Amino acid sequence: MADTKFDLVVIGGGPGGYVAAIRGAQLGLKVACVERASTLGGTCLNVGCIPSKALLDSSERYHQVQSELENHGIGVGQVSLDLGQMMKRKAAIVDQLTKGVEFLFKKNKVTWLRGAAELTGAHTVTVRGDEPTAVEGDRIIIATGSTSARLPGVEWDGDRIGGSTQALSYPEVPGTLAVIGAGVIGLELGSVWRRLGSEVVFFEYLDQILPGTDGQTAKQALRLFKKQGLEFRLGARVERAVVSGDKCVVEAAGMAPFEADRVLLAVGRKPATDGLGLEAAGVATDERGFIKVGDGWETSAKGVYAIGDVIGGALLAHKASDEGVACVERIVTGVGHVNYDAVPAIVYTEPQIASVGATEEQLKEREVPYRKGLFRFKANGRALAMGHTDGQIKLLAHEQTDRLLGAHIIGPAAGDLIAEATVALEFGASSEDLARAFHAHPTLAEALKEAALDVDGRAIHA
Ligand code: FAD
Ligand code: AMP
Repeated sequence: MADTKFDLVVIGGGPGGYVAAIRGAQLGLKVACVERASTLGGTCLNVGCIPSKALLDSSERYHQVQSELENHGIGVGQVSLDLGQMMKRKAAIVDQLTKGVEFLFKKNKVTWLRGAAELTGAHTVTVRGDEPTAVEGDRIIIATGSTSARLPGVEWDGDRIGGSTQALSYPEVPGTLAVIGAGVIGLELGSVWRRLGSEVVFFEYLDQILPGTDGQTAKQALRLFKKQGLEFRLGARVERAVVSGDKCVVEAAGMAPFEADRVLLAVGRKPATDGLGLEAAGVATDERGFIKVGDGWETSAKGVYAIGDVIGGALLAHKASDEGVACVERIVTGVGHVNYDAVPAIVYTEPQIASVGATEEQLKEREVPYRKGLFRFKANGRALAMGHTDGQIKLLAHEQTDRLLGAHIIGPAAGDLIAEATVALEFGASSEDLARAFHAHPTLAEALKEAALDVDGRAIHA
């Protein structure tokens, strides 16, 4: 007879849940993780971060071979696209990583309970797999994540009108792709298909792209994306999208109907809580359905915790994982902490866009006095050598204390460069600290040092 009593039952095997489960096991708990999908790893590994980055990398290479090599003095023959092979490579990466999580569960003696979980008592979870089983957990962590939000009037058929999961596996390059929503997911997947040859048109409700991003950076991104041939209809409130014959038709308020081969709906994510039994268990949610948590990520039901996308905030894998670790450490040791002021966020477009900490808009709103340092990649030797000079680094530091408050990067390898700024923010560094630290030459990171120097008006190469 299989075990049915655990110290900790985690619901959901994504980056929040699987990391919480492993940390619990490391701390000596007997842990089970309930996952209803056929693989572990959640949205991130299966239909999110990893497959999207695999396609972004492949499509960028395809684009570079066609448009950048000549300038390097490299000639290539006819360039062709094997979409099937590109998708196979993506699937192999996903497979390797999801199996890797399964291996980690075995190594750490975490029991994977296969099936859909429902809270059926203060400490009881019913797992509906091959046959329903009730398991008990002293503590329960809900990490069920999120799914694509829908829009009224957009007739989702899960094929030609669908979300990011569909857009990660289109069987052919769409002639025309309409993307509803110019947020991170829409822009990343729109970029993939543009590079592979689609005409890509965005419909965005706001009059800017990437809401919440530093305004100056978002404006620059829009300019660069337009140069790549991405088209934007801003201030466009989509009211209807339907399949009509062999086309899809998108209708935005006050605009002429638009015909596309496929529609990608990317207007945000909603918490995945259907069938979880939250109400019966006394787990309260907010007006958008995200689970409310208090101290130590405990929900309104004692002994039941929630982490990751299902509690809202930044819908990012590393935020989910760090909450998972901190939540479990808090349960076991009484101490566990996440610094929400230093959560990095990256958009893996070309160029990449990465940020950590406050934007200028937020600092103004909070009436925090700040100084700004800016350095453009066109004056960085390494960027020039690479041939990727678009973009800049902006650092924001407190006017009086010089403590770093935010970093906003658009440019080559922004997603890697943000790591240094994140550590600096985490350690409470000043811009002077960054400016005084060695940065090897020639590196892109020198642009960060120069931006730090510029906070004090003393950049050398500007
Ligand atoms: P999830 O990863 O959603 O995992 C939840 C798991 O719970 C799922 O496996 C689900 O099957 C399971 N589950 C749900 N309900 C039940 C139930 N009742 N019983 C049993 N199991 C259940 N983030 C980044 O940081 N970087 C990126 O580059 C990035 N790219 C993304 C690209 C795309 C296209 C998408 C869609 C998302 C991307 N994200 C990215 C966001 C990231 O995937 C999520 O923030 C992250 O997966 C959240 O982790 P989670 O553990 O909270 O939930
Ligand atoms: P994100 O939340 O980052 O995934 O971005 C979703 C984007 O979709 C935001 O920029 C929203 O402004 C946009 N959006 C939401 N509703 C609509 C709509 N009806 N039509 C067009 N864009 C929308």
